[in-house]
Amino acid sequence: MDAAARKKRISERVDARAQALDRLALEIHARPELAFEERFASSSLADYLESEKVSVERGAGGVESAFAAEAGSGGPLVAILGEYDALPGIGHGCGHNLMGTAAVGAFLALRDTLDGVRGRVRVIGCPAEERGNGKVQLMKGGAFEGVDAALMYHPGDRDEIDPLMLAMVNLDVELLGKAAHAAAEPYDGVNALDGLVLGWTAMSALRLLVRSDSRIHGIITDGGKAANIIPDRAAARLMVRSPDNTYLADLRRRVLACFEGAAVATGTEIRPTWSDVCEVVSTNRPLAESFAENVRTLGRTMQPRRLADTHGSTDMGNVTTVIPGIHPFLSITEGPVPGHSIAFTDAARAPRALETMHLAAKALAMTALDVFTEPALLKHAKEAHGNERRAVVP
Ligand SMILES: [Zn+2]
Repeated sequence: MDAAARKKRISERVDARAQALDRLALEIHARPELAFEERFASSSLADYLESEKVSVERGAGGVESAFAAEAGSGGPLVAILGEYDALPGIGHGCGHNLMGTAAVGAFLALRDTLDGVRGRVRVIGCPAEERGNGKVQLMKGGAFEGVDAALMYHPGDRDEIDPLMLAMVNLDVELLGKAAHAAAEPYDGVNALDGLVLGWTAMSALRLLVRSDSRIHGIITDGGKAANIIPDRAAARLMVRSPDNTYLADLRRRVLACFEGAAVATGTEIRPTWSDVCEVVSTNRPLAESFAENVRTLGRTMQPRRLADTHGSTDMGNVTTVIPGIHPFLSITEGPVPGHSIAFTDAARAPRALETMHLAAKALAMTALDVFTEPALLKHAKEAHGNERRAVVP
């Protein structure tokens, strides 16, 4: 069977499972689960793989709600990744209910097509993208061991081949003071809330001065316990983002200085905790070109990134730092709809979203097949990866 015949078969095998994939995507949409709690989603997807006679490793990489499975033999190893966590309050406002399902659909269609091909495919169910850098834990736990290329897609409102995903770090900042009766003996207290608000005000002033491609934002998570007690603890969670690693390091220093200065001014103690860094996505050009060509044969056209567009951050950035990979967006909407919104949550269960999920499954499987059947593709992907790394690392 030549490559074109195999790709036709991939399409047919995705179409044959379309109803089952739709049901999974809609059930996961109806039962949104937050980071590391995706037990329903991961077990539904793993159960479905087992019903298709696939041996599944549950809890892959030491993460309870992860899973992995492999098919094929010899040749390169391509990972197809799928997420399934939701957002607090708005459910699947990022469309992750369509990602684990597409990865599973791609994996099964490819498995059914690999007779006589040297190559292995690993599907990895990846928890905790919205919070917690799940893929970083999976990498540390060995789930990406031996992977030559990592492929995934993300639902969006535009077919975009190389979206700008910013590097990002979380700062949990806690200010500690001393409680006192706010009316009887306020002079005995040290006001942690005032310290936090002063730091927040300084941070807001800083935001006017930062580059337009970088972001600082957050929420106050603790502002005290009662209005008649001087707060002895106040806390905020901040996110600092930039496409530039060097500039991100500079912003970290300047944001922290806002709260350190406020702590000095108010006599409070500061306790900052930084998360791991979520890295910039390095889109691998040869793999992206293969994906775009496969999408074209399926009737849609991938667009390049627009200068002013950013899409937040993803732990897929950390994967693409060490493994050649892609993270394109495929539109599930008729026009512009912002992500992380109720409107996007609604779009993520509409017919267009399900059709796009089928297309994504086909294009991901076809791109993995290209890696197996065109040896020059992986060679070029690895060369490009080396060049991207030299360009990104300061
Ligand atoms: Zn997302």
